[in-house]
Amino acid sequence: MQHNTVTMADKKTIAIVAHDNKKQDLLAWAKYNREALGGHQLIATGTTGKLLQTELGLPVTRLQSGPLGGDQQIGAKISEGAVDVLIFFWDPLEPHPHDPDVKALLRIAVVWNIPIACNRASADFLISSSLMPQEYERLVPDYEEHRNRPVRMDGA
Ligand code: PGA
Repeated sequence: MQHNTVTMADKKTIAIVAHDNKKQDLLAWAKYNREALGGHQLIATGTTGKLLQTELGLPVTRLQSGPLGGDQQIGAKISEGAVDVLIFFWDPLEPHPHDPDVKALLRIAVVWNIPIACNRASADFLISSSLMPQEYERLVPDYEEHRNRPVRMDGA
């Protein structure tokens, strides 16, 4: 498959989501990395965003709460090219009413080759990467073949 490149600016848009059992972990991580996070633009699902704003004092664009559509909003922004990095502390030990949205968000992040961290160690590696504060040419598969695929219209 051919690839196109998308230029990610030095100032990234980082989307942040944490399930309830992971919010403490996320906040501890975010506080530790407050300075690095402050150099980027933050968006988050409703409750996660509120906690981040309060605890870090950084501006955060808040979307709907995750179970009310926030995960899907982030997924839509990824497909529009409006998110560069996803920090998603999902809970592997509890079922959630919005489990399909969790899967959909992880899937769309892979479709668009967005860097994802789903736990604290990965988030540490990601935020401390030398690529974070610089421009980066992200490879994205060329989906023209998919867009132009033949679709049967004869009802067979
Ligand atoms: P919340 O949503 O930040 O509104 O709690 C997170 C989620 O459960 O997806």
